Amino acid sequence: MDLKARCARCGKRLKKGGVSYRLRAELISRFDGYIQDKGKDLDETLEKIESDVAGMSEEELEKQVYQKIEYIVCPSCRDEIERFLDTEGKS
Ligand SMILES: [Zn+2]
Repeated sequence: MDLKARCARCGKRLKKGGVSYRLRAELISRFDGYIQDKGKDLDETLEKIESDVAGMSEEELEKQVYQKIEYIVCPSCRDEIERFLDTEGKS
């Protein structure tokens, strides 16, 4: 482990031999089968998609479809992330 490892979230230095957490997440584009521009012809829809992605780099486009995240975080950030991800009880 890197001696100068820091928490990716708060920047706190992680002590060697101390407790830290590896956070791994994947964001994957989800397609529900619904195409918004119904009624418009396919050419028009494709044109819109083309203009939406124009100016984006290949890297950015890939991120839109699939993004893998891996962070090392300290225990207090771990707790906060856990709270953030806990959607139970919310509607
Ligand atoms: Zn932290």
